[in-house]
Amino acid sequence: MSKVELYQNAILDAINLGIFVVDGGGKILMWNDWLAKHARVSAEDAVGKSVEQAFAHVPSSAFMAALRNTLQYGLPAVLSNAFHRAPLALFAIDEKEEQQTIHQSITITALQLGDGGRCALIQVSDSSTSIKREKMLRSHSEVLKKDATTDILTGLYNRRFFDEHYKIALGQAIRQKWPMTIFMVDIDYFKQYNDYYGHPAGDKVLCAVAHALKSQLARSSDMLARYGGEEFILILPNMQAEHGMQFAEKLLQAVSALNLPHLKSKAAKNVTISIGLSTYDPSRHREVTALIDAADTALYKAKQQGRNRASYLALDTLISHRIGATVE
Ligand code: GH3
Ligand code: MG
Ligand code: MG
Repeated sequence: MSKVELYQNAILDAINLGIFVVDGGGKILMWNDWLAKHARVSAEDAVGKSVEQAFAHVPSSAFMAALRNTLQYGLPAVLSNAFHRAPLALFAIDEKEEQQTIHQSITITALQLGDGGRCALIQVSDSSTSIKREKMLRSHSEVLKKDATTDILTGLYNRRFFDEHYKIALGQAIRQKWPMTIFMVDIDYFKQYNDYYGHPAGDKVLCAVAHALKSQLARSSDMLARYGGEEFILILPNMQAEHGMQFAEKLLQAVSALNLPHLKSKAAKNVTISIGLSTYDPSRHREVTALIDAADTALYKAKQQGRNRASYLALDTLISHRIGATVE
């Protein structure tokens, strides 16, 4: 063997890639060390055999078809790990799991060896680590995305997500010509609750109220978010003003049914909420920018009227107030 051939053999065996050659009759001509390690079959055992005989399991039918195409027609083939995870019986060597199959990327190319006719050169790389890294990055970015839209304490959507979603829901209401009702919810005498029971207990109340409100949502398009400190906001698409008050009653009931004692509340013996609501109806209102303001004003009214109640403010009332104020 010449010096160059010796070098070439050493390189073929050191390379971090499986390389083997199959001749026109389907027999293996060469088999490098990487394959010997990962297929657990030595070069002496593999050379001269067909691929079906050499590997511990018969290669996948996709691999066999690709190999036939290369040998018969000279067509190259790529078996990407996205579609073909493990066409060949190749195993990890340093994993604790002895029989762990490695994910493979395979290329098959035609090779003319002297006058021995057309052969196929098969190169196999281990894509397990890149798949693991990809998986890790994907789950990491999902966590980040969730963090950016979720309120950590209650698990509800946060204000940032609400702002985005609100625009979308509004656009949908306009396009579909359906009404949309929003609810601003605020826990009554919550400062006193914290002062008396402590901040950690206050946190628990926030979570319990969040859960109670959420339990009242029926449709996937309904949304609830933590708007700020002890305030929540709900968007109910396709809900008329008349149904808004009935729904608000259900929310009041759900929180009251939690039966969380609140000795410092002047509204009741338990933790209660106040609600302000308003409805945008594309068939009646041309102006919508004041919708959140209207619900907020309604909430203020509910607080003034004694808390533990809901108050509705028609969107046009607020708009006409505003126009009046500008004129004056
Ligand atoms: P009202 O009935 O008029 O709504 O009175 P209130 O005491 O509920 O309203 P105020 O705005 O005076 O107080 C809100 C309190 O909410 C003050 C603040 O400490 C508390 N708060 C806001 N965010 C959190 C939180 O994340 N955890 C806890 N425990 N308390 C919070
Ligand atoms: Mg408040
Ligand atoms: Mg409050």
